[in-house]
Amino acid sequence: IGQQLSHRHAARSVTAMAAVLAHEIKNPLSGIRGAAQLLEEGVSAEDRPLTQLIRDEADRIVALVDRMEVFADDRPLERQAVNIHLVLEHVRRVAENGFARGVRIIERYDPSLPPVLGNRDQLVQVFLNLIKNAAEAVVAEGGEVVLATGYRHGVRVSVPGSTSRVSLPLVISVQDNGPGIPADLHQHLFDPFVTTKKKGTGLGLALVAKIVSDHGGIVEFDSMPRRTVFRVMLPMYSEPHRELGNRELGNQPPQE
Ligand code: ADP
Ligand code: MG
Repeated sequence: IGQQLSHRHAARSVTAMAAVLAHEIKNPLSGIRGAAQLLEEGVSAEDRPLTQLIRDEADRIVALVDRMEVFADDRPLERQAVNIHLVLEHVRRVAENGFARGVRIIERYDPSLPPVLGNRDQLVQVFLNLIKNAAEAVVAEGGEVVLATGYRHGVRVSVPGSTSRVSLPLVISVQDNGPGIPADLHQHLFDPFVTTKKKGTGLGLALVAKIVSDHGGIVEFDSMPRRTVFRVMLPMYSEPHRELGNRELGNQPPQE
């Protein structure tokens, strides 16, 4: 037990350090970013790409640190009833106005789907990351991304650290018709820093895996050329909300 306790203690101080570090990095960085922006106005057109580069790279570090903050956050998750369709709508809007311009996004929602038990902001992050990957996979070919929601019947899984089993009846999937995930990546796809992109961080899916697992959910994928699908299974919200890990979560999904 002593060993375990000290491990836990060490993990906690690493987490605390990461949180402090994240905060401390962001301050000077916003100074750098602001200075570059000011320079940009006075600098010759020829030199502008350089100030632009400083800004872009500073933005990348900010994005990285933002992700690190999520990993470092070990506070208990605040969960409530979340309408997953509103989450998807929000992400879709962000996508269409940014990284997914030119990509067709198709929605196949089951309107009867009950709310998910989860943290809204973190779920936004999950689907943002999945849709971003899907869009990046198809954007060259003007492909399409299909967002779907529905029930999955009778899936029951053990949640780490808990003796009970929970049912995860809600499935949200993100599918694309891109080239597929290279086979040599499958084994480690959710590990941090796995990337095939020139400017990738390899943190998108690691973050997805962490958030979904914090929710007591599961994420899996199937990939072949022209059809890659990520499925996120989550517990449904049921009133009154009982503690996950103590007792069973959610109701039985309706029978087929
Ligand atoms: P990043 O997007 O920064 O590379 P991710 O963790 O989001 O990091 O993804 C890791 C890698 O998995 C990507 O670099 C890509 O090779 C592969 N990948 C993820 N999603 C897809 C997809 N929908 N289609 C093809 N490859 C994908
Ligand atoms: Mg990504």
